[in-house]
Amino acid sequence: MTFGRSKLLPSYTRKPNFKSHESKKRYFEFRCVNCDEPLAVEYNLLINQVFGWEQHIGEALAAEAKEFYRVGIVRKSQDGGWPSMTKVQCSNCKITHLVYAGVNEVSNSVYFVTLQGITEIITS
Ligand SMILES: [Zn+2]
Repeated sequence: MTFGRSKLLPSYTRKPNFKSHESKKRYFEFRCVNCDEPLAVEYNLLINQVFGWEQHIGEALAAEAKEFYRVGIVRKSQDGGWPSMTKVQCSNCKITHLVYAGVNEVSNSVYFVTLQGITEIITS
């Protein structure tokens, strides 16, 4: 498995895309790296999978992704949160994107989500 084109790469200074106590929009929207089809990922999915995403996307891909996105040795995301990743397939051209976000629980059950990566997965 290798990584192809990226739409978004990690940043230490990016502001959160989602604040669970005030954001109205439940989905992060982006466009397919290949065909520009509009795609979306639910913030709650990234939050809910924060301690299960490695099993969900597969340990091998998770290990490669952590190296690719340079998730820190203490397993923190660039925004200081916990990394969470999910796969999003394009409904039009069928390529798969790896979506990476940092999830911060800023106070009890209040979550900030910062999108840190969108990259095409190439299966060989
Ligand atoms: Zn596409």
